[in-house]
Amino acid sequence: MSDTAAIIEHGKQVLAGNYNRLPFVMARGQGTRLWDSDGREYLDLFAGFGAGIIGHCHPALVAAATDQAQKLWHVGNTFYTTPQIEFADRLTRTAFPGQAFYCHSGLEANEAAVKLARLHGNESTTGTKRWKTVSMNKSFHGRSLAMIAATGNPAVRVGFEPEVPGFTHVDLGDMEGLAAAVDSETAAVIIEPIQGEGGIHITPTDYIVELRRLCDERKVALIFDEVWTGCGRTGKWFGHQYFTTASGKCVEPDIMTLGKAVGGGLPVGVMWAKPEIAKLFVPGKHGSTLGGNPICMAVSRTIFDVIERERLTDNAATLGEYGMARLKSEKRIAPKITAVRGRGLMIGVELKETPEKLVEKGLAKGVLLNLTSKNVIRLAPPINITREDWDRGLDRVIETIASL
Ligand code: PLP
Repeated sequence: MSDTAAIIEHGKQVLAGNYNRLPFVMARGQGTRLWDSDGREYLDLFAGFGAGIIGHCHPALVAAATDQAQKLWHVGNTFYTTPQIEFADRLTRTAFPGQAFYCHSGLEANEAAVKLARLHGNESTTGTKRWKTVSMNKSFHGRSLAMIAATGNPAVRVGFEPEVPGFTHVDLGDMEGLAAAVDSETAAVIIEPIQGEGGIHITPTDYIVELRRLCDERKVALIFDEVWTGCGRTGKWFGHQYFTTASGKCVEPDIMTLGKAVGGGLPVGVMWAKPEIAKLFVPGKHGSTLGGNPICMAVSRTIFDVIERERLTDNAATLGEYGMARLKSEKRIAPKITAVRGRGLMIGVELKETPEKLVEKGLAKGVLLNLTSKNVIRLAPPINITREDWDRGLDRVIETIASL
């Protein structure tokens, strides 16, 4: 048995079987490149579910982590630590003034957001306590018991019944359905600016403008789940910055949640809330032992510095437009695809049919891509990818689709 086959066999014995793992062992990464344990090289156009926002082992992130690792690893949230505060300053500058609760994943950020919205709902003076959450069909918000209830895909709940109560789902874009679902007990609406797991569906701006108005009118907290769309991926710092009113004002949420890219591959989640709602998180209402870990925070802060310094949101916007235009105009794959959509470097290519072993076929051509919602190829490379690598990667994506 080869070394790789032996590792895989051993992995099957000792790792839980909840992931559909491919028979590859990834050993090393640098920038947009990955190498497996047999030394084969791949262009990484998926960046670990978008988390590797500035690529593998970025020298600035290695330096930030190493420097912080030599100063302080962990002390707990009974104290202030500078990296947490410095990172919050980056969020104020790039998103909106707010306050941070730090955790380790997207789902934890969403849990914190829904808890905070319930505190807000409990403050209601009308006599009826607000505790329910409305979310979208085809949404994805994480795998905890509450977040599988929030997620608009019944398959994730099978086997985990009874469901956590208080979550209802409506179709994205159906304003009437939403207005009917938000009742006197609703505390929050949670929505992704672009549905990621659901197949790259962009939330329409007019719907968001109306949703903001409805939430204001009914005193419901609006949560934007930016776990996929945050941190420059879409060509702006945050996906919601594409939503503007007729007068050009950005539609802001009361609470924004981040995961994936915010840690660049380290486990970081953030619940970022406007101060007037964040103030309800008084001592004892929520917490996390390792949330806001100094090494993670030093890395998160540096990710934002690199994105800002190198204008990587512009790179994502330009290369995203270019890539989508290339995919749309490529004659060889036209008969096999029904749509190309996305923003910045968060792109979905919808296929006419569900492909067999798509990711393996891509890897055989030297490119790492992903498939979601049965027939949507997802591309989410590091946003500092060069034009040359993006072109090379797109060549391989096109060849892969053409070979299906
Ligand atoms: N929210 C969205 C929009 C996601 O896409 C995901 C994961 O894919 C999550 C939340 C959950 O994040 P995590 O896997 O870090 O818990």
